[in-house]
This record gives sequence, C-alpha cells and structure tokens, in this order.
Amino acid sequence: MKRVYIISGCIGCGSCEAICPQVFKVDSVSEIREKTDIEAYEDEIKEAAEICPVGVIKYEE
Ligand code: SF4
Repeated sequence: MKRVYIISGCIGCGSCEAICPQVFKVDSVSEIREKTDIEAYEDEIKEAAEICPVGVIKYEE
C-alpha cells in the first residue's frame, strides 16, 4: 500500500504544494489532501520529497 505522509519539522516553504497541489496543501505547515489518488501523482510526490528543504515528506511504496 503506497502511502505519503509528513513528519514533524515542516517549515512551510510551499515547495511541495507548488510541485503538486493535488496532493499537498500548505497552510503554515504542509498537509496531505484527503481523498487524493496518490498513485496518479507518484512522480510529483517523489519530486516534492526530493526538493523539500528539510526532508520531511515520506513516501512508502
Ligand atoms: S516542501 Fe517540505 S518544508 Fe516545504 S512546505 Fe512542503 S513539507 Fe514543508
């Protein structure tokens, strides 16, 4: 089961939402939107996880 989540430490930079607004919503800190088809945005999620300056986006395959 694929899963994306955010651990503590987000600094709210907004990069993840800029890359994939369908999955990430930043409102002071980033949250994962509910009812999102994660698999449809797998590439964008991985890119967001790589670009996150504090490395708090976790993606499990
Ligand atoms: S890219 Fe990382 S630090 Fe920036 S808002 Fe998203 S989760 Fe937070």
